[in-house]
Amino acid sequence: MARPLITNMRGKQALERIRKIKPFIQASLTITKKRCGNPRCPCAQEGPLHEVALLTWKEEKRTRTLYVPIELRQEVERWVQEGKLLKRLVAEVSQAQREFLASKKKRRKSSKS
Ligand SMILES: [Zn+2]
Repeated sequence: MARPLITNMRGKQALERIRKIKPFIQASLTITKKRCGNPRCPCAQEGPLHEVALLTWKEEKRTRTLYVPIELRQEVERWVQEGKLLKRLVAEVSQAQREFLASKKKRRKSSKS
């Protein structure tokens, strides 16, 4: 038999959602405009500049970046959104567990009196 989940309704709901999590990434996607460096490209003179999608994240206090090909932008954006959702759900379960503990404390006090 599976070990029962020691949590409350809030925790159960958040855990249920975590089980359905899709590929995620904890980073942000930024679109910037850059010159490509080709002197014959119109962007070398007056633009329009090229859009470049970059994934940025922190690793040991350093900001790291990775180029995101245009055909993967939407997909990577979904990973980023999923990463944010997971972060919220982790906070949600932590909050639920704190509430669970706090409710036990209250119950014990009231049963004594
Ligand atoms: Zn160019």
